[in-house]
Amino acid sequence: MEQNQDALLRQLNTFTRRNHTIDEVYLFDLILCDNEIDRDGDCFSDAALAELQKRFVGVTGIFDHNPQSKNQNARIFHTEVMTDPDRKTKTGQPYRYLKANAYMVRTDGNADLIREIDAGIKKEVSISCAVGRQVCSVCGADRLKSPCRHIKGKTYGGTLCYTTLDAVTDVYEWSFVAVPAQRSAGVTKTLGGAPCDPEKEMLRKACQETTLLLDKLTEDLRKDVIRLCYRFGDNACAKALANSTIHMDADALCRLKQSLMTGIRAAEACSRPQLSDAPAAEPAGTMTAYQVPPPRREA
Ligand SMILES: [Zn+2]
Repeated sequence: MEQNQDALLRQLNTFTRRNHTIDEVYLFDLILCDNEIDRDGDCFSDAALAELQKRFVGVTGIFDHNPQSKNQNARIFHTEVMTDPDRKTKTGQPYRYLKANAYMVRTDGNADLIREIDAGIKKEVSISCAVGRQVCSVCGADRLKSPCRHIKGKTYGGTLCYTTLDAVTDVYEWSFVAVPAQRSAGVTKTLGGAPCDPEKEMLRKACQETTLLLDKLTEDLRKDVIRLCYRFGDNACAKALANSTIHMDADALCRLKQSLMTGIRAAEACSRPQLSDAPAAEPAGTMTAYQVPPPRREA
């Protein structure tokens, strides 16, 4: 332990202008991020964790984004990607996390803060970074380049939809967020370094709800189309057509439904008995006025 502390002190002194003794500094560990799917439905890839490990060394952290906590800076001086052999992620991968060692130079101004960290009150860490790829777990699309219609948290054919954050291009900061003790510890993050915008969040939710509704309507439409496919019997052709609907979106389903309806109407018209001498039907839209018979006179 002593030896470990000496090694850590040597490492942190490479970031300071003069050498500090162990009594002058406060050392603490933190978990910056991991490969578990978080509350936003995102997780970091192994490559992203490795890149973050390199980039977070030397990065300064802030506390509660409070501009008054000027002298309460902490700096990361060592990082390591750890694997927990006893824990698996929701997707069954070995749990990996990015652990960091940070230090603060002890001052009168940060004594309370140090007590809060020791007491475990400040336990949630938020990181800010930029990633170059956000990969959908269902279709593999890079959501940054071609957003797909899969919704994080929903399951498609047994596959949970989440986004894997990959290709880290920058890290901006990390910060401690004070959270109530009962809330489970976790990682929050800001991608691209932009703070969470409430209006954007509201629009995102509205968009998600609309997409869910569209998904439901598309499913109903698909069922209609499948029924139409089997309208003239359960043959191989009908089956192949019905099976192909699984890959169609609402637009393609609408077009297929329309062409099936046209075909069905034509087939029905052909099978209707034709009377050669019957007068031609009145064109649609014209009507013969109904004649009211004159009242009968009583003799
Ligand atoms: Zn997708």
